[in-house]
Amino acid sequence: MRLFSWGEYDKKRPVGGKIFCKHCYSSTTASVIWRVKEFSIFAIPISNSEELIGNECDSCKQPLKDEDLSYLPNTAESKWKCENCGRTWPLTHVRCTICKTRPGQRVNPDSST
Ligand SMILES: [Zn+2]
Ligand SMILES: [Zn+2]
Repeated sequence: MRLFSWGEYDKKRPVGGKIFCKHCYSSTTASVIWRVKEFSIFAIPISNSEELIGNECDSCKQPLKDEDLSYLPNTAESKWKCENCGRTWPLTHVRCTICKTRPGQRVNPDSST
């Protein structure tokens, strides 16, 4: 039996509410991740420290910055503008219905040029 040990695990807490992930372009949820380091003696946790790692998209597991979380469609007015045709769509539209362009993406110009 080991006298003492270090344990390390990740702790997650939901951010709360819906976010719009700019990695997977979906309306989803996110979690805040902490790395917990736990020092135990005789399997009894004596002390632990928590280090904030950051936020993560629950759908694609990509890291999200705090400013990405504020990219919430928390109002029905949140819209994105299609860079190709200039139309605006609610964030629940993952792509432009007209020209199939995704938010922040420009359709490749015709190869004729
Ligand atoms: Zn995502
Ligand atoms: Zn468009």
